[in-house]
Amino acid sequence: MSTINRVDLNSKQIEELKSIFGARFTTNESVLVQHSRDESAFPPVLPSAVIYPHNTEEVSKILSYCNQNLIPVVAFGAGSSLEGHVLPLRGGISMNMTEMNKIIEISPADLVVRVEAGLTRVALNNRLASEGLFFSVDPGADATIGGMASTGAAGTTTVKYGSMRENVLALTAVLADGTIVKTGRPTRKLSAGYDLTRLLVGSEGTLAVITEITLRVFGIPEKMSAAIVRFETLADGVAAAAAIVQMGTNIARCEFLDAASVRNANKHSGLTLPEQPTLLFEFHGSPTNVESDAQSVAEIVAEFGGSNFEWTSDESARRKLWQARHDAYWSNIHIYPGKRIVSTDMAVPLSALAKAVEACNEILSTHDFPFSIFGHVADGNFHCLIITDPSNPNELTDIREITHSLASKIIAMNGTCTGEHGIGMGKIESLVEETGENAVALMRNIKNAMDPNGILNPGKVLA
Ligand SMILES: Cc1cc2nc3c(=O)[nH]c(=O)nc-3n(C[C@H](O)[C@H](O)[C@H](O)COP(=O)(O)OP(=O)(O)OC[C@H]3O[C@@H](n4cnc5c(N)ncnc54)[C@H](O)[C@@H]3O)c2cc1C
Repeated sequence: MSTINRVDLNSKQIEELKSIFGARFTTNESVLVQHSRDESAFPPVLPSAVIYPHNTEEVSKILSYCNQNLIPVVAFGAGSSLEGHVLPLRGGISMNMTEMNKIIEISPADLVVRVEAGLTRVALNNRLASEGLFFSVDPGADATIGGMASTGAAGTTTVKYGSMRENVLALTAVLADGTIVKTGRPTRKLSAGYDLTRLLVGSEGTLAVITEITLRVFGIPEKMSAAIVRFETLADGVAAAAAIVQMGTNIARCEFLDAASVRNANKHSGLTLPEQPTLLFEFHGSPTNVESDAQSVAEIVAEFGGSNFEWTSDESARRKLWQARHDAYWSNIHIYPGKRIVSTDMAVPLSALAKAVEACNEILSTHDFPFSIFGHVADGNFHCLIITDPSNPNELTDIREITHSLASKIIAMNGTCTGEHGIGMGKIESLVEETGENAVALMRNIKNAMDPNGILNPGKVLA
């Protein structure tokens, strides 16, 4: 990891920023530590200071000041990202967005909401429920909407409702020099000029700081039901999931767990699920539709040797069926105390999915690191979780070599090194391998045009 050209604020800068932001500017050691890492296994890096802005104008003031003084700025949401995204590699300021957490406007007739970037998705959904609405993107962690937009997040419901790329309609953002820009409109369609909204979605805080977001939301379905089914082999389960999507079956969620993930969930939550490759489904619609959709899935999985198909439309039973999936990440943290997780995030075209998962399983099985595989298989997207000991930094180097070779294999299969987590500092080389030098050079030109002093989240996405 490169920490060259680190910038620490001098006493004049500290005094100036303190005089503007008061207690919302801090150099308190424990606050710096909280902003020194995300959920990845990368060793922490302290920022020089942390600021908590309250509105777009304050973000503009901070960026304008930092741009003039060449101080790096890293926007910080919930810190749940997985590729070292929020590590302040060059020091400077970590800008914590979580005090900008208002719901500005809910428009049920348009199925649209406008929120501040630091609002979390759970807080948004708690409020939307009283309107009979929900925001669909669910990355597992209680991330901020700004962080989710900035990583191009997706999740378990993407197969039916889309990812952040489909659900962000408009943005207010602040450029590196403090200029405030508005992109997009709260409309279903838009064909006006370059698509700046989608340029910023997934830009990981390297092009601008997002302050307000207009999102699509959906009516809460009349009925939800769930199903679970087990397979003899990893390949059978994954092939069944691909077939279900290829046949156009109406599923709202379709998640895969390998035997190790189920074993971890059993241990962690005292469950007694059969420790076999498992597919979990959720169906949304009218009571008749959810039943007939489940019936179609039951018929398809049977052709792939699926056994013990269980279906329920009872709410608490539905939640219980999904417990193993919700535990997939956290059970590893609890079962291996003191260890960290390296998570891959590869995605392939559906026709290559079974082969891709099988290939990763085979490669990881030749090493000694504990691992499990699960993911959003209906999107061709799966995660390999590999356990590493942070007290032995060589392990992390070895694991990153393995994950890099997995990514190369997937890229060669026409896949991507990241379906939803983003590049951060962990996949910079894979981005070049996947996209090619010319496309990366174009990205660098865009970065230089928007942030000529390179103050926004330096060391991420591009080398
Ligand atoms: C258990 C677990 C499960 C997960 N599952 C998924 C999953 O299924 N799908 C998925 O997509 N992700 C998943 N993630 C990763 C993570 O939750 C997402 O990347 C999430 O979108 C990050 O949001 P955050 O608020 O935590 O952002 P942070 O981690 O704080 O920041 C992420 C990036 O966005 C930038 N950023 C944050 N706020 C802003 C802003 N307002 N303006 C500009 N840039 C900003 C940061 O600088 C950084 O580069 C998972 C993480 C965990 C721990």
